[in-house]
Amino acid sequence: MDKDIKEVLVSAEALAARTREMGAAISADYADKDILMVGVLRGAVIFMADLARAISRPVTIDFMAVSSYGASTSSSGVVRIVKDLDEDVAGRHLLIVEDIIDSGLTLKYLYDNLQSRKPASVRICTLLNKPSRRKVDVPVDYNGFTIPDDFVVGYGLDYAEKYRNLPFVGVLKPEAYSS
Ligand code: 5GP
Repeated sequence: MDKDIKEVLVSAEALAARTREMGAAISADYADKDILMVGVLRGAVIFMADLARAISRPVTIDFMAVSSYGASTSSSGVVRIVKDLDEDVAGRHLLIVEDIIDSGLTLKYLYDNLQSRKPASVRICTLLNKPSRRKVDVPVDYNGFTIPDDFVVGYGLDYAEKYRNLPFVGVLKPEAYSS
């Protein structure tokens, strides 16, 4: 699997250290509040598992699945809820947890959708951010790493459902796309 990686962009050590920092910042900001963490399947699962353990406040964990990319690397702009939350959102403090924000289209849709359900608050936490690719504005409250415009895999992120279990974030070799 590692043979398909051209370059490690964020090491396992850097991921762990930054996740701890983000957890501490979130714990401080929500000092008197319970958090409903909303993970966006499937990419955010591994980050969310580590982030939840770095937060010292009570958290509830729930997930949404939206369709966006399939096996392609370019955003269609079409967002559809494939799995909705099980939790009731009204009056809760939501923390949306994403793996990566690229065009922002997925998150903009989710953010507006969740806001319409009358939560007490909604904040956005993303592990990775590609601001150079943004098509719509989204308010990012917690940002792990700003990265260049490369297609990345690992630590939850896939290409055609592969590479999610790599312990680092890396850039795929071009030849890995065609295999
Ligand atoms: P957006 O709607 O912001 O364009 O895209 C968000 C989603 O696209 C992410 O949750 C992720 O699933 C996918 N995505 C965007 N950029 C990348 C990337 O570099 N690598 C991978 N594996 N997925 C990406």
